Amino acid sequence: MSRFNFDVITLFPKAFELINNLGVITRALEKNLIDVNLYDLREYGEGSYKQVDDKPYGGGAGMVLKPEPIYKAYESIRKSPKSKTLLMTPQGKVLKQKDLARWSNLDQIIIICGQYEGFDERIRCLADEEISIGDYVLSGGEIPAISIINGLTRLLPGTLGDPKSLLDESHNSFLLEYPQYTRPLIFKDMKVPNILVSGNHKEIELWRKEKMMERTMARRKDLIYEELAKKDKSITNKEFFKKYKSGLEDNNYPDW
Ligand code: SAH
Repeated sequence: MSRFNFDVITLFPKAFELINNLGVITRALEKNLIDVNLYDLREYGEGSYKQVDDKPYGGGAGMVLKPEPIYKAYESIRKSPKSKTLLMTPQGKVLKQKDLARWSNLDQIIIICGQYEGFDERIRCLADEEISIGDYVLSGGEIPAISIINGLTRLLPGTLGDPKSLLDESHNSFLLEYPQYTRPLIFKDMKVPNILVSGNHKEIELWRKEKMMERTMARRKDLIYEELAKKDKSITNKEFFKKYKSGLEDNNYPDW
């Protein structure tokens, strides 16, 4: 039995072949850190045609997934005590890094993927949480499910080469990551900032913190506003915060 089980109910299990070709995730599968168990909705379909969808009551375009096959598939999954069921829907709560971190303490996630026009409303009560991966509509819940499997797996101990790389990365706090460079020192007249080759670790750390603040200010001021709204006492770099606070008071709030 692996450390973490993903049990996915889907009409398109083949879509999940992608996770066998995703670097870190593939290694986690090989190392038995995770298991991805697929439940092909078609197999739980009704009658000789294995029907899984039907026309919506009240009329309207498209087809809706029927409740019985999803319930049958769901009931066939063995649930562990530390399990949560997620329903993929553009009407759900928009996924955040902190959700992935929160779920990484479980040992099982059951994911229900919709298709077509969606699913019968009576599916909703199976879910602990309804999750959207963004304010846009895809044709099915498979890509959202793969995003969750991918994002959560890289947080599991033993998956990444160096877990320290998770600390400063974007969305771990309210700040985006600092700019990264590797060799060569000069590429197409673009030079790596001198500070990064200075060997002065304290200065480098300071420069990186400053860049994180600058970047977030320039690209995602909304993240800083959100943090301010929380009045979170845990903001670590008070000095940087003070330095850029004046900039927060202008009207440059991005309109996306
Ligand atoms: N008619 C529905 C959308 C159906 S899209 C509505 O207006 O709400 C078909 C399926 O794709 C959904 O049931 C869901 O499982 C999945 N899906 C589409 N967009 C998604 C998103 N942004 N996040 C999560 N799942 C999504």
